[in-house]
Amino acid sequence: MATREIVTLPDPVLRQKARKVPAVTEDVRTLIDDMVETMRAAPGVGLAAPQVGDSRRVIVVEYAEPPEQEGEPARPPKLFTLVNPEIVRRAPDQVKGVEGCLSVPGYLGEVERFESITIKGLNRAGLPVRIKAAGWLARIFQHEIDHLEGTLFIDRAEEVWKGEEKEIESIAAD
Ligand code: ZN
Repeated sequence: MATREIVTLPDPVLRQKARKVPAVTEDVRTLIDDMVETMRAAPGVGLAAPQVGDSRRVIVVEYAEPPEQEGEPARPPKLFTLVNPEIVRRAPDQVKGVEGCLSVPGYLGEVERFESITIKGLNRAGLPVRIKAAGWLARIFQHEIDHLEGTLFIDRAEEVWKGEEKEIESIAAD
């Protein structure tokens, strides 16, 4: 495994529609593993392949759900690696939240996302998977899948602002 360089605006790869992956080969698995290492090193909670300059439909997400009740211990983070992810169901409710992006460093924006979604795709072994996500996890998935279409959070945000360093640290970047 190796970390890869995270590309930032105005790199054109961030604006391209990523290609569908025909099969989960060893090369794709290496890309996934490198993306996981790069995401953790950043650190971030998600990464899409175009963010490391590879225009293929691959995303990785790692997120720890907050405890159900205050005072409970933090839950362990869960890692998702998805090839050709596709949103197949969207709940009608949308919610606003503040997002940042490793490819748009220093900026934040408030973005409306679906509160819960169902995604299908292939896992690292090439097997079909279906994931139901709600809340912040659903937001991260929507942000990453947007990257595969060449869409950035700044396109969806009503307002984008330069984040204070402290504020950026407290908001998980993806
Ligand atoms: Zn991003």
